[in-house]
Amino acid sequence: MRVLLAEDDPIIADGLVRALRKAGYAVDRVDNGLDADTAVLSQAFDLLILDLGLPKMPGIEILRRLRARKCAVPVLILTAQDGIEERVRGLDAGADDYLTKPFALPELEARVRALTRRGTGHATRIEFGNLCYDQSERIAKVSGQLVDLSAREMAVLEVLMLRAGRLVSKEQLVDHLCGWGEEVSTNAIEVYMHRLRKKLESAGVRIATIRGLGYCLEKTGEAHGSA
Ligand code: CA
Repeated sequence: MRVLLAEDDPIIADGLVRALRKAGYAVDRVDNGLDADTAVLSQAFDLLILDLGLPKMPGIEILRRLRARKCAVPVLILTAQDGIEERVRGLDAGADDYLTKPFALPELEARVRALTRRGTGHATRIEFGNLCYDQSERIAKVSGQLVDLSAREMAVLEVLMLRAGRLVSKEQLVDHLCGWGEEVSTNAIEVYMHRLRKKLESAGVRIATIRGLGYCLEKTGEAHGSA
């Protein structure tokens, strides 16, 4: 899950970035409206957290442009305490939810979970072999038993499960895992794969390496095609 955070207050932004990354989201942050507008035009996000009071271009304008382009990315707006009018305009312009500053991080995380769940618009549980991945709860189970995975391992598994049985390139994995300013090397991807393979030994699936191309999640006993 990839989140774009548009917030110019560095203290609020740092806290949000840290909390969301800890919860396993890849987060990109911009501190002005122009960069936010460019980012949503050039890349796909699963959620936009948008401060309405942004320099260079107001949040409401970004939201209007987004919806005018029929971009359906869920948008959570952040508004000032006394900004009732602003909040109403935000919702009218197509925001999905709002939070009033200051807010508690657990509340933000709950809203983010709800919005990213809604955003996918389909069942968020994926089953493959004995493995079950729940995208909204961010948990993986093997034969009903929870698998203990780090946030990064979970993010890798998510990509593999979303494309189960099909090729996933290293670039796709790097793209899914990294936010701007947060480097994820292809070596790191190999380390996550190694750990995932160990943790998923009894899952009835295996992560096949397709040399030079990437990875493929297969059911044990099935050989991958030439992809
Ligand atoms: Ca602001």
